[in-house]
This record gives sequence, C-alpha cells and structure tokens, in this order.
Amino acid sequence: MSTPASRHHKRPRGEGQWALGYREPLNKNEENKKNDDGLNVRQRIIDVYAKGGFDSIDPADLRGRMRWYGLYTQRKPGIDGGKTAILEPEELDDRYFMLRIRIDGGQLDLRQLRVIADISNEYGRGTADLTDRQNVQLHWVEIESVPDIWRRLEEVGLSTTEACGDTPRVIMGCPLAGIDADEVIDATAQVREIHDRFIGDPAYSNLPRKFKSALSGCTAHCTVHEINDIAFVGVRLPTGETGFDLWVGGGLSTNPMLGKRLGVFVGPERVADVYGGVIGIFRDYGYRRLRHRARIKFLVNDWGVEKFREVLETEYLKEPLPDGPAPEAPRGERRDHVGVHPQKDGNFYVGFAPKVGRLDGDALHLIADIAERHGSGRVRTTVEQKMVILDVAPDRVDSLVAELEANDLPVNPSTFRRQTMACTGIEYCKLAIVETKASAMNLIDELERRLPLFAEPLTVNVNGCPNSCARIQVADIGLKGQLVVNDRGEQVEGFQIHLGGALGASAGFGRKVRGLKTTAEDLPDYVERVVTHYEAQKKEGEPFAD
Ligand code: SF4
Repeated sequence: MSTPASRHHKRPRGEGQWALGYREPLNKNEENKKNDDGLNVRQRIIDVYAKGGFDSIDPADLRGRMRWYGLYTQRKPGIDGGKTAILEPEELDDRYFMLRIRIDGGQLDLRQLRVIADISNEYGRGTADLTDRQNVQLHWVEIESVPDIWRRLEEVGLSTTEACGDTPRVIMGCPLAGIDADEVIDATAQVREIHDRFIGDPAYSNLPRKFKSALSGCTAHCTVHEINDIAFVGVRLPTGETGFDLWVGGGLSTNPMLGKRLGVFVGPERVADVYGGVIGIFRDYGYRRLRHRARIKFLVNDWGVEKFREVLETEYLKEPLPDGPAPEAPRGERRDHVGVHPQKDGNFYVGFAPKVGRLDGDALHLIADIAERHGSGRVRTTVEQKMVILDVAPDRVDSLVAELEANDLPVNPSTFRRQTMACTGIEYCKLAIVETKASAMNLIDELERRLPLFAEPLTVNVNGCPNSCARIQVADIGLKGQLVVNDRGEQVEGFQIHLGGALGASAGFGRKVRGLKTTAEDLPDYVERVVTHYEAQKKEGEPFAD
C-alpha cells in the first residue's frame, strides 16, 4: 500500500517535510519551535518578563516566540543600513518593541478604535501605522506594558495573537463586506469562522513559515488575492449560487510567485474546512529545511495544482470539491475604496487616505470622533494603508468629507497620495537598508506640487529592503531600498527600480531594470521623469504596466 510519503516524495533531498518523516529539526528556527511552541510565550510574558523587564527575556523568546504575539524588537536608532547585514541581532535590537494588532477583515468599531488610540498614546509614544495587511502597528512598546495592553485589547475583542510568527496571520477581508452595493458575496461570517477555529490553535501554531490569507467577495478584488498564500475570491455560478474560487501559493519577497487557481468552487459553508485543509497541507508537507524555501508557494510550484488539489481532497477533506469558475475581471482600475460610494442600505461609505498609512493616537481619536459626529459607529482599514468610515447618511456626507479633508485625511486625494505605499523602513525595522516613510511622504508632496494635474492610476510602492513588505513587484513603480553611489562617489541611501508590475487582468511582476537606481535624494526627480515620459508616450487607454 502506498503511504503519503511514498506518493509525494519526489525530491532527492529531504526538505524537512513532517509528512515524509522529517521530524528532527533541520535548522535553528525549527529547533526553537520544537523546544517550545510559540503560543506558550504568552504566560511567560505575563508572569516573568513583564515583571523582570527586558533583561529577563530568554533570547529564544526575544527573537523567536514573541512574534507569535505580534512583538518584534525594533531597530536601535542611529544604525545605518550598511550595517544591517553585518551586525549580530543583539546589536540591532532596541529595548523597545513593535506591536502588531491584528484586525481581521479590517473591521473596527469606534470603541475598538479608541482603545487602540489610547494604547498608542499611553504605551507607544503616539505611534500608529496602518499596514498594507489591515493591521495597526505601534512602536516604542516596553515589555512591562504588554499584559495591560493585551487586557485592554481583549476587553474589546481585539488581540495580537499570531499577528506575526510561523502562523496563520491576519485574515484579510474586503473592508466593505456586507455593505458594498456591488459585492458578489459577503465573506464576513467566513473571516470570523476561520479566525475562531484556527487562530491560537496549537494544532496550527507551528507552520513552516508565515501564512498569509485573504477572503473576499469584493468586485474590485481589493484583497490582492494573487499574492497571498491562500485566497478565496467571490464567484457566482450560472445558477446564481455564490461562493468562492480558491487560490494558493502566491507571495512576493525574493522569489515572487502569483497564486494559482485550484479550479474548485467552495461554498460558503465549506470555507473554514478548506482553509483548515490547506494549512494542514502546509504544516505537514511544507518545506522546513531552508527558511527561504519554507513558504507554501514553493510546494505548490513543485507539486502543481492538480496534485495539490488531489491531496487536499483525498487526505484532508475526504471528499472532492466541485469544479468552479474563475472570478470576473476586477471592477475599475483602482482596488482601494477611497472616495464616497453607495452602500446596499442607502447610506454611504467614505474612504480616505492617510499619508503612507502613518497616523498617531490623536489622529485615531479624531477619526473616531468625526465618524461618531456623523452617525457612524464603524470604521475599516484597507490593504492599501487607507481607512473607510461606514454608514454615513446621505445628508451627512458633505460635512463628513469636509471635516476629514480639513484634517489632512483627504477623501479626494491626488493619485500620488492615494496610490503610494511605504513599508516600515529603517526607522524601526531591523532588516531595513534605507528609510522609507519620510522618503515616500516627501515624494508625494513633491509630485503633487510638480504634477498637479496628473490623475491616472499609478502605484508607487516604497520598500526598505528586498523583502517586499510594501509589494515592490506588483507596483507600477516599485522601489527596493539599497545603498547606491551618488554623483560625488559617496555611498548613500537609494532604490533599485522595478517598472510595470500589476495585479488584476494583466497581473505580472515589474521588471527590475538593470542598472536603474536612484538615490533617495533624487527620488522625486526620477519619478517625475518616469511619469512625464509615460504621459508623453502613452497611447489612448494604455495603462502604465504596458
Ligand atoms: Fe522591513 Fe524590508 Fe519589510 Fe520594509 S520591506 S518593513 S525594510 S523587512
């Protein structure tokens, strides 16, 4: 009789797959996880580290298991990017943490928003960055405050559990789930069910690496399903029945791959089971020997979709899934939800654009107050570092928009403001080579001043290193931080340029243009030249990626 091992073992050298019998850890990360599950650090933080302070933290927890609760040590200030790859981790570590709060589906009520704002002001020196996965990140957090932060978050139904680490991280969802007049299907219940069944479950807390999820019935395809480890995309059958098309194996970083359709139809009632099956495959068959090959995309790529589907159906679900259609092409050219749009119920939602997701505790309070004054009790975070206020009555829209605009939260932003994203960068990130947020903010200001009439969709994604947290390869202009040599022969911060990446109907990765680099200082000049050239050369209706 064939065993799973004999059927799936093709690679000549072991990849550390549990299902093939490789239970002995093959690298340090795997060893740490075997020694003690990441989830177990919570009690030590409460009982020991918060009382004993930073120096009491076991190094294996500090640089490993803390991530299972969204905690990373932040970069010590003043260390330049040239030292990132040279210094030992303890030399880069500050005594403060970044804390990532997971916001599944981007859904927040005003009480939750105000709690985050209070925590930011009391424990995070006012920092609050919106990420491109709908989370909020605080900085400057001390270990002593973590138990109180958790208590306050948990009182309002929020948490940091598995916000980072080798786990199923935040479940991204359309911010307009259940209210968008155009959506194919409301995926709110499925986001909740996946969260409740799998997040914090020790059966799935030791995956080979991180696992990114998206689940949406949005016709704008706003959750970037092509570049997630797993994605469910809303589809409608010819019978009118609605459900999801399943994608697996997308991801960027240094080996970018687009997700692949398995060609199955997943009814709403089966989504959580299928999700469990796919993370089960990843846990059992995912490669663990080399960290850089430990994402599910490598397994999907090696197996192919037919084998992946067969293993999912036979070993994990124990029954086949029906074939299903591909999603329709996305609505419009912009996937965000910025601007004023109708809801199903006759009210409106209003999306606005904080600059590269950078907010602070006071701004979060202000947003909560503005929303409340206009009759709204719900806000959303988007995957583009933006926010949306829901449930605004028709006669309150103008006043809401005016108040947001007056506070530099534009509802009608320039293309540059609307479609520029930036990762954390050297200000706090230990892997960074260059600064990103300030460079991107300066770029937006300069381009708005120099090209005030430019209104085409154009994405500019600024990343501080090759890791692509802000999605280098799928932007029209993707910027990868590195050190470059300027005209005076000095080594300075700069960017390698990727041009013409896209998602949607023409999904593809931007081309790294060999030799094409700019210093951070010259970035506005460079982007201005590219945009001006595109304007002059483009044919009618031609998008930037062409
Ligand atoms: Fe840090 Fe690099 Fe990710 Fe930016 S892309 S947040 S610098 S790891």
